[in-house]
Formats: sequence, structure tokens, C-alpha cells
Amino acid sequence: MANYQFSLTQVMQATNAILKKLTSASVFGGVTTDTRKIEEGMLFIALKGENFDGHDFIADAAKKGAIGAIVNKDYDISLIEDIDIDILAVDDTLKAYQDLAHFWRKKFNIPVIAITGSNGKTTTKDLTAAVLSGKYNVLKTQANFNNEIGLPMTLLQLDGSYDVAVVEMGMRGLGQIKELTDIAKPTMGVITNVGETHMELLGSMENIAKAKGEMAQAIEINGNVILNADDEFVSKMNRLTKAHAIYFGINHAGDIKAFDIKTVNDGKTEFDAIVGDKVAHFTLNMIGIHNVYDCLAALAVGYACGLTVEEMQKGLATFKPTAMRFEYKRLADFNLINDAYNASPMSTKAALENLTKVAKKRKILVMGDMFELGSVEQKAHEDIGLLAGKLGVDIVITRGTLTKFTAEAAKKAGVAKVFECASHEEAVDVLKKELQKEDTVLFKGSHGMHMEKIIELLEKE
Ligand code: ATP
Ligand code: MG
Repeated sequence: MANYQFSLTQVMQATNAILKKLTSASVFGGVTTDTRKIEEGMLFIALKGENFDGHDFIADAAKKGAIGAIVNKDYDISLIEDIDIDILAVDDTLKAYQDLAHFWRKKFNIPVIAITGSNGKTTTKDLTAAVLSGKYNVLKTQANFNNEIGLPMTLLQLDGSYDVAVVEMGMRGLGQIKELTDIAKPTMGVITNVGETHMELLGSMENIAKAKGEMAQAIEINGNVILNADDEFVSKMNRLTKAHAIYFGINHAGDIKAFDIKTVNDGKTEFDAIVGDKVAHFTLNMIGIHNVYDCLAALAVGYACGLTVEEMQKGLATFKPTAMRFEYKRLADFNLINDAYNASPMSTKAALENLTKVAKKRKILVMGDMFELGSVEQKAHEDIGLLAGKLGVDIVITRGTLTKFTAEAAKKAGVAKVFECASHEEAVDVLKKELQKEDTVLFKGSHGMHMEKIIELLEKE
């Protein structure tokens, strides 16, 4: 049973719905858009997606125990005439779902921390939840459910047991962060960085910065914005808000500033950090400077929420890294770094720089195409090849079509061995032939390239 209830009148007030049919239900125990999650007494919201239309599943929902349904007002309710279920009609069922989530969120006077940025949102969200868990019971976005459907789903999980909520907010265009912040009304906004993701839709870095800036704009005067002091665009976003800005970084002065960063054994990082007026030592169960940034953002939230350094350390120690995000693995005599969850120019550059920091012997890059880059795609792929040369990467292995630009640039930039592979299997063959003891291999590419499959094939060998 869901841990919350909505009365019929609350639903009608929150969503401006019209009651089309009243059976006996006057109170709903929970709301869902997914028939697989229906429990007795729930309200079902029929969403129209790309592949499915929830309106086709109302009978199914009723059979599984739903006692009410919200439908679009142009839906022909005579189709479900003989189903014993309350029917409410609205202009837009997705909006109704969001309205209910907003209505529900407003019942809880707790900090709601929203996290956005081009890279590292999920990592920062999970780190923030871990840090805060040193003192609080935390509700957080599950996995990567950061959009207009995932956010309401998270907020509807709020109940009296939570002290704080941490929600991830993704976006693909201008106005979307505003839409999400209007639903969640965050009291604190974190902006990790601004990089070339979704260039296809946004066109320029300035536009991307503008889109992320909507987060700063959404935070009210008594709230906090948590800003990356080392990011050219994010560091200026205090101008967009009346809220108090808290800065984190490594190179520029900030309220939270890391120094003496060391990669230690078993894929861990140790560093010292200024936290307000204290200095403390932290251990992060991940490697890579970009992850240190994400961790600093999380500590900044902890600081803003009034945690002690000890509470933050305790919380951080519980953090477990998610798969495929600069995930370290030892295979035979080799070190593998699985960063194949996704790739953008910024995250790939960060990953390469980290590779050079953690590799003790030779450095190998296995690179798949980066998608959704629009007009900058050729240059972005070339830049990776050039950087590989500059950083002294020993071998570059590519997969895909756009990475031919990476391969060409890598050769020009002096990478000694470059292999363009037509399949994952071919990449495995190359690796088997070329790998030497204590080599470190980085796997990177857009999600759709499934570069992690190369590691799986290698493991089977
Ligand atoms: P998505 O847009 O898919 O939700 P995200 O913003 O949630 O992505 P993560 O899933 O945390 O980001 O990480 C995605 C990739 O970005 C990983 O490959 C990771 O190594 C890299 N990354 C994480 N943090 C940073 C950072 N601060 N700067 C640059 N790259 C980063
Ligand atoms: Mg994410």
C-alpha cells in the first residue's frame, strides 16, 4: 500500500479535473502511471507515451485494484463504461500527474535539493544523498529518473519519515529546468557544470548555460545555490538568483575547496578539504578528478544543511559507486576503467585526463562514438584524438563512424598505435594482442555504443 492518500476532492483541486463518473471511491491510496505497480485502492493516471497509451490499460488497471483513473478529456469514456472505477478527465494527464506531485510535495516542509548540470548529475545526486545520510533520512531519485515523469514519481514517494529529498533534474532544452523546478519547488539548487551536451538542441554553450541557469533563478531568497567555482559559466550564476551562493572547487577559492588529492589503492581517492571554517580529510570510493568535483558539490550541500564534518564523513563512507561511471576493475594483470555509461566531449576529456593520473604504466583509450553533438560532432571527435596525443596515450582503439575523426587526429597528434575496429569482437582481438602487464585501459562512448560489452567479451576470454 502506498504511504499516502489523496481524497477525490484533493485530486480535483490539485489537477482541475472534471468528475466524469463516480463509483464509491472517495479516497485513493497512492497514484501510479504504471499498471505493473498498481496496488489495491490506487489512482491510475493514463499517460500517452511514444510506444504505449495508458488509456488502453484502464481495464487492466481496474482489474489490478485501481479504483480511479485520470484520463484525457478527449478520451471516449464510453469505451470503459462497464468498468467499476471513478473517472476524472483533464486537459493533459501528464500535467495532472505533475500537479499531484507538486500538491504532495508542498505538504512537506523539508529541504528539497535539486541537482542539474551537463555532467555528473546522477553521481552528485547519489553522493549528496550519501553525505546527508550521515544525519538524515533521505529520499532520492532512483537511478536516472530525472525527467518530467521521473520527478513526479520521486516526489510522490515523500512521506513523514523523510527529513530531506534529493532530486536529479535533466533537460534537453530551454524552459525544461523551469518546468521541473515549478513542480518540485527546491529549496536548494546544485549546478555541477556546463558542457557540450545536447548541443544539437541548444546550439551554443551560452544557451546551455542559460538553460542550467534556470535552476539558480528558481531558488528563492532564503534558499541556497551550490555553484562550481571552477566552471566559467556556473561560477557566474550567483547573478541570476537572490539566494545565498555556496561555492565548491579545487582551483578557485570556495566555501568547500579540496587539496592534496591522491588516488589510492582499490579505486579510492583521498583528499583534504576546507569546509567552511574547518579542514577535514575525506575518502571517496571512486577515482577521477571529475568525481571529486561531484563529491565537493555533495559536501557543499551537507555544509549548507548544517551537517558536521564527522556526519559528512560518516555519510560519504556509505557511498557505493554506480556501474559504468569510471568504474575500476582489475582483470588478470590489467587495469580496466569502465566509463561506458555515456560520453560527452566534457566527460570524455575529464576521463582522459583522469586516465593519465591513475595509470602507472601504459595508457590505452577504447573509444566509441559520442552522439547528439550536431554541428560540433566532427570537431568534438577530433579534439579527443588530439588530447589523447597530447596526454601521451599509448594506444587508441576506436569503434563507430564518428570516431574515425578521433583516430585520424590521434595519429596526427603522435599516438603510436591507432586501430579502427569494425566490431566489438575486433576490438577484443586487438586488445588481446596488444595488452601488456599493468596497462590501464579506459572504455568510453555514448550509451548506445555499449562499449561495456567489449569488457564483457574480454572477461569471457
Ligand atoms: P545523464 O545526463 O545521463 O543523466 P549525468 O549528468 O547524470 O548524466 P552521470 O551519470 O553522473 O552524469 O555521469 C555521466 C558521465 O559523466 C560519466 O561517464 C562520468 O564519468 C562523467 N562525469 C561525472 N561527473 C563529471 C564531472 N563533474 N565533469 C565531467 N564529467 C563527469
Ligand atoms: Mg543522470
